[in-house]
Amino acid sequence: MNIAILSRNPKLHSTMRLKEAGEQRGHNTIVVDYLRCYMDIAAHKPKLIYQGRALDDIDAVIPRIGWSQAFYGSAVVRQFEVMGVLTVNQSIAITRTRDKLRSLQLLSRKGLGLPVTGFAHSTKDIDGLLQIVGGAPLVIKLLEGAQGIGVILAETLNAAQAVIEAFRGLDANILVQEYIQEAAGADLRCLVIDGKVVAAIKRQAAPGEFRANLHRGGTAEKVRLSPDERSCAVRAAKAMGLAICGVDLIRSNRGPLIMEVNSTPGLEGLEYASGVDVAGKIIEYVERKVDSSHGATPTIE
Ligand code: ADP
Repeated sequence: MNIAILSRNPKLHSTMRLKEAGEQRGHNTIVVDYLRCYMDIAAHKPKLIYQGRALDDIDAVIPRIGWSQAFYGSAVVRQFEVMGVLTVNQSIAITRTRDKLRSLQLLSRKGLGLPVTGFAHSTKDIDGLLQIVGGAPLVIKLLEGAQGIGVILAETLNAAQAVIEAFRGLDANILVQEYIQEAAGADLRCLVIDGKVVAAIKRQAAPGEFRANLHRGGTAEKVRLSPDERSCAVRAAKAMGLAICGVDLIRSNRGPLIMEVNSTPGLEGLEYASGVDVAGKIIEYVERKVDSSHGATPTIE
């Protein structure tokens, strides 16, 4: 089988692991820099060209689209869909996850556990927003952020007001969230493939830090999820329409709450701490899917 991994950098750990896992299972696995792909959209036979060669023999695509390049990246994934190629996550679902507010709205529509969250356009509505989340301490998040950047804990209402005004002054969109103190700087990352949690780790923030992201100095260990947590992660993946994703949960007094759903989860910390060959499981999923979808045309939106 010919598998294309869409990734900006072949040296990224997750990209290398997927390539290695594909090759170990006997597949021809290439890394394609999606920003260097160009498309022929109008022709009868839609095409994608990469480094002067038409990518017309690809059986399956594993998108690893960075959030800052989601616009062009999802257009490339969509072009593969137009060409009838299987992509593990669909372009429409990748686009959804890039917007935190949109993701939360979709999850809330399915009745999934979320921290109380407020969003407003005008700084005139800050007071109302702060009331929704029950006052300070509270968390302020940039709508387009990743790896914990743009996630701020405001200890007092004055601090919250000042930060919100500053962000809005820069025209940045933010959401405001109740602070889940009992999570004690820990979160759970669950890797969902095809409706099952295949690996889960608990990430613990560095001392004095409330964000558990490994990029922010957090540490990780293997964890056993409760049935509730498992079901929450699986339902979140389904609500977002993602076959493969990372679901971040935090443990609260009222059960698991979803922090975010990530369509391009990092594999390094996850595989290392859980001991699970996640890359191998992703390739196995691709094999199953290609086998069962032979002749079927993926939908595009
Ligand atoms: P990013 O997408 O940048 O990783 P998240 O929304 O996942 O941003 O937040 C980063 C981390 O900050 C979370 O994994 C969690 O540890 C912590 N965190 C975020 N929101 C809250 C909250 N409302 N209450 C407690 N901790 C939070």
